[in-house]
Amino acid sequence: MSSGFSRRGLFSLFARPLKASGETARAVGNAFAGTTPAEAPPAAPPVPMVAIIQGRHCLALESYCSVCIERCPEPGAMNTVQMIPMIVPEICTGCGICQQVCPAPENAVLMLPRRTSPAPPDA
Ligand code: SF4
Ligand code: SF4
Repeated sequence: MSSGFSRRGLFSLFARPLKASGETARAVGNAFAGTTPAEAPPAAPPVPMVAIIQGRHCLALESYCSVCIERCPEPGAMNTVQMIPMIVPEICTGCGICQQVCPAPENAVLMLPRRTSPAPPDA
């Protein structure tokens, strides 16, 4: 007596959807493989910076300005020599505030990578 289905035919009825779903999963995986952003590289350690004043651009050279000195959060990091602000690199933390607030048409503050370590806080 025959039921009309061979065992192979019966198996293939179930096997096809499984195979199809496997291909679908691979296709989905491949689709995402191209678009998934690569894992972000570890953040590079911030480069220690130090400010320097470009006297030729400083407004204090010909008139008066002390904005950077007033806004510098680090006591002793700036002083003035003949009304021109000067950075004390051993104390400057490289925060960049002085550069942000400088109103000179050509910003008189340059931020450069530090070559020497700042003095330790309690030194
Ligand atoms: S970078 Fe920061 S700490 Fe250094 S002089 Fe400018 S405001 Fe002061
Ligand atoms: S804020 Fe700029 S222009 Fe003013 S004193 Fe400082 S460096 Fe000079």
